[in-house]
Amino acid sequence: MAWFKRVEKGIVTPTDQKKETPDGLWHKCPECKTVVTMAEHRRHRCVCAPCGHHDRIDAADYFDFLFDDGQFTELDANLTSGDPLRFVDTKEYPKRLVATEHNTGLKDAVRTAHGLSTGQPLVVAAMDFKFIGGSMGSVVGEKIARAIDYARQNRTPFLMISRSGGARMMEAGYSLMQMAKTSAKLALLSEAGVPYVSLLTDPTTGGVTASFAMLGDFNIAEPGALIGFAGPRVIKETIGKDLPKGFQSAEFVLEHGFLDFIVDRRELKQRLADLLGMLQPVVAAAPGQREARRSASKAQ
Ligand SMILES: [Zn+2]
Repeated sequence: MAWFKRVEKGIVTPTDQKKETPDGLWHKCPECKTVVTMAEHRRHRCVCAPCGHHDRIDAADYFDFLFDDGQFTELDANLTSGDPLRFVDTKEYPKRLVATEHNTGLKDAVRTAHGLSTGQPLVVAAMDFKFIGGSMGSVVGEKIARAIDYARQNRTPFLMISRSGGARMMEAGYSLMQMAKTSAKLALLSEAGVPYVSLLTDPTTGGVTASFAMLGDFNIAEPGALIGFAGPRVIKETIGKDLPKGFQSAEFVLEHGFLDFIVDRRELKQRLADLLGMLQPVVAAAPGQREARRSASKAQ
């Protein structure tokens, strides 16, 4: 068929006359290659309708659909990182921070907020991978610690959405201290009887997996998320063996007992509402509350 064959050779279209699809109008699924409009893709919360592939989304996107009408109050929005070690790699750390802030419009790799989700109060901390690989520096640790404090003081359930490459190299030891700090704060939250749900998204690795991400009363994950401590290549080289199929996928981790369930992002809000609704009597029966009630009934 001549129609499908370029009979004449050497036809060249000048660049300025080439018609290109504007960027950001269409989305092609990296898994099944289905093409949909970006608006349609966002309506499905960036989950591919035919194959269920979950694209990475930002903290802002989670806040937008988890909080009722997208209404929330952000906590510690202006906390920014110092440079305690005067760290220099290919760039000085402060310069890297400024450049990242400029490119992403974010102050650091986590955002924390409170508001209503399906009518119930909720504190959410969500990580942004595009800010230096979602790495955990002192600002990430501090913001999470403060969000946990807020949850404890207001007896509001806490949801952590992790997406991180682990500790932030440029803060070295300071970064590692965040593991202990956030874990200690979560222990206080647990003691107070306030529920903590940890959602692990693609990818959750390193010091984040080794601290707050795995300490939930419920540890849940998005389908297909990479969850691990060290990366597969490092492990393979260390043990000198081939790794099993699907190693470090959310499904593999679930099967080996490290997760409670996997949740489709499109059902996340409802599943969370059901779960927290179920835990409501537990919150109400927490020690502090019980005492307050007892003294209230005595006063009557
Ligand atoms: Zn797909």
